[in-house]
Amino acid sequence: MPIDLFSELDDSHEPAGKATAGKVSGPNDPVQEIELLKRSLNHHAHQYYVLDDPQIPDAEYDRLFKRLQELESTYPELLDPNSPTQRVGGSAVDSFASIRHAVPMLSLKTETDSTSSGAINFDNRIRKELGLDLQAPPVEYMAELKFDGLAMNLRYENGKLVRATTRGDGEYGEDVTHNIRTIQQIPLELSIKDSQNYEFPCIPHVLEVRGEVYMRLADFQDLNARQRDRIAKGVKGEKTFVNPRNAAAGAVRQLDPKIAAQRPLSFFAYGVGEVNWHKDPTQNINHDELEKSFHFSTHEQLLNTLRALGFPVDSHARRVLGANGLVDFHKEMGDLRGTLAFDIDGVVYKLNSTDLQQKLGFITREPKWAVAHKYPAQEELTTVLAIEVQVGRTGKLTPVAKLAPVFVGGVTVTNATLHNQDEAQRKDVRVGDTVIVRRAGDVIPEVVGVLLERRPRLPESEPEPFQMPLSCPVCSSPALREEGEADYRCSGGLFCPAQRKQAFLHFAQRKALNIEDLGEKLVDQLVDTGLIKTLPDMYKLGLSSLIALDRMAEKSANNVLQSIENSKATTLNRFLYGLGIRHVGETTAKDLAKHFGNIDAIIGATVEQLLAVKDVGPIVALSLRNFLDQPHNVEVINQLRACGVHWDEHAQHPLSAALELPLSGKTFVITGTLQTWSREELKELLENLGAKVSSSVSAKTTSLIAGEAAGSKLTKAQELGVSILDEEQAKELLDSLKLK
Ligand code: NAD
Repeated sequence: MPIDLFSELDDSHEPAGKATAGKVSGPNDPVQEIELLKRSLNHHAHQYYVLDDPQIPDAEYDRLFKRLQELESTYPELLDPNSPTQRVGGSAVDSFASIRHAVPMLSLKTETDSTSSGAINFDNRIRKELGLDLQAPPVEYMAELKFDGLAMNLRYENGKLVRATTRGDGEYGEDVTHNIRTIQQIPLELSIKDSQNYEFPCIPHVLEVRGEVYMRLADFQDLNARQRDRIAKGVKGEKTFVNPRNAAAGAVRQLDPKIAAQRPLSFFAYGVGEVNWHKDPTQNINHDELEKSFHFSTHEQLLNTLRALGFPVDSHARRVLGANGLVDFHKEMGDLRGTLAFDIDGVVYKLNSTDLQQKLGFITREPKWAVAHKYPAQEELTTVLAIEVQVGRTGKLTPVAKLAPVFVGGVTVTNATLHNQDEAQRKDVRVGDTVIVRRAGDVIPEVVGVLLERRPRLPESEPEPFQMPLSCPVCSSPALREEGEADYRCSGGLFCPAQRKQAFLHFAQRKALNIEDLGEKLVDQLVDTGLIKTLPDMYKLGLSSLIALDRMAEKSANNVLQSIENSKATTLNRFLYGLGIRHVGETTAKDLAKHFGNIDAIIGATVEQLLAVKDVGPIVALSLRNFLDQPHNVEVINQLRACGVHWDEHAQHPLSAALELPLSGKTFVITGTLQTWSREELKELLENLGAKVSSSVSAKTTSLIAGEAAGSKLTKAQELGVSILDEEQAKELLDSLKLK
């Protein structure tokens, strides 16, 4: 059962937004506060390190941790050797064999001040520890990225990977070799020859390589998409992961390596553990020479050696000088952070000289010669003020959590998408909830989880689960969800103000009514100024209102009006397609036009009648009905006709006209580049005359119409003796049929 540590800690029941300002309020008695902080930190460390199921963001954990450190330094008599501040987090789980590390795996001191002073403080500390005065030259450091994954110790004996161990509590880790073997980037055998001219006469008998196992962002997103799919299909015991670190930790500690292999992991090496030369007195080997070849006087050399041995070492790592070098690196990597293929939560500075590292040594859980300098958190806590439903340009309804403003991932976030009904339900986000918000890189902010223990408990304030509204919040048309689809959609496509711009652009496109001069910018202007609301308004536009628009000269306005006028003469299939009915693409529109021959028959068709059309299945039929059942949509169709939009209904009607069409029964293939028409246009002209247009030449082909640079189709037609028309001849044919 989760412990309600928060209400104990935060007895004022302040909204979480307050805590994010860096203030952790607690009881006045330090003994009691220390006790509560220790319980809270132990609980969350267990969730995070052992169960791979963190309940609070790292930033919140870090704040509690820092508060405990502060209290322990103010009241040193209250410092307990078992305090979380004195130990490396985590412990081994029973399901894996527990392995004692030959060399302890420590943590890093964290500099949470994410401004440049974090780097300056570290440099000052190091200079003081080394006894350097102001005149002494700047200290040399290696600066690296701090990968947000989990530490791994890879043990090679005689060049072969024998064991991979997690950090655990620093002294004992878990044996996860079976899963680590699935990581392609990790060499199973070390090659003695290197690719970069480093010479290893021999590899140490024991070599432990340390680094971070992590998941790349793209792999994380794919994994979560697959997990959502599995959940939707009802696969039991599946869950999505809150962040790449959590997903990587889960994969590493999978009992089944087959599952681990499906969760792609990556690796960066950044250090070594035990390095041991097995001294066999019976063999005549000069061990001193060997050891020299594997001695690193700087951390930079160590990284180069690891790279040469075939381990992935991040290329951003570099040698820098003094506080200025550290500050520049922190800033530069901070700017790059959003573009990297993986998550980092900071950078790490390490003294470059290994002699100096040894001189400074360690304290309790961390080396004194290194520090992790964090960036602003990508996950934070805040409260949900409301859940609104937004209607997208295509009619998709999206629940959006309105949040108490919170600074996360470098920006202030006030909204986060809940994607759809299922996601909102799965996460069970409710108004008043304290939630974890994540914003990494340019990815839109997301609610990754709810802190259930902080949900308001009083019966009168117990928030309701979210439920998608039954009607569109913008136009009140019914909101419908198709079977097998995650999204609800507004069914008022032609009428809904939220979908206006999209409706105009779709209607005007080349394959629809082909209103050339009506581009995106103009539609924006016309809709934003309120000149057009529904499609028929376009046919009522006058010269004066167009000229009044920003940057609209009389000539262009006339062109717009002319192209709108020209669009009135169209075909039924173009018109149908232009209505933007979901699932009714160009081909379906053609099939419908051919089958029914006139729009009223389509408006009045039952689902069964619609299903009788070639290639129309239940999804299309239902979508058509949903659309046509909205009186507003039909009204728009009728108004368009009243405005003069027209077509020759017989041209598409096979029952009434097919037999009289001049090219019925004939099959054409079009190839090469044409000057007069696009291939699409010629295809349509031919089809309107009853011909079939196919994509490949066969003995059944009546004629091949061959434009410039015709290739294999032309050869094939020649081989089969199929008649070949060039562009001129095709024009003559169409002219002769008086339908150019
Ligand atoms: P840490 O992760 O902050 O730093 C030490 C670790 O950094 C090393 O073990 C190593 O794995 C990693 N690292 C990445 N890049 C490195 C590099 N280039 N060189 C060396 N090491 C590198 O420390 P920690 O003790 O593992 O854990 C503390 C972190 O875990 C904090 O950020 C804390 O917020 C988080 N945490 C969160 C919760 C929670 O409930 N959300 C609970 C416990 C801990």
